[in-house]
Amino acid sequence: MENCPLCGGKQTGKVGNDQFFCSNCFVEFNTQNKIFEINEDGTLTELTF
Ligand SMILES: [Zn+2]
Repeated sequence: MENCPLCGGKQTGKVGNDQFFCSNCFVEFNTQNKIFEINEDGTLTELTF
């Protein structure tokens, strides 16, 4: 299981081939450590730091 790149937590679930969901931050992230915010309509917006 992947650790969340945002909070480092393990409350993550697999949602795609290389895509994961953190139920702590309510974000999705992939194996390239890109983090996506989940919009109200279900679409994803990439978070940049
Ligand atoms: Zn997290």
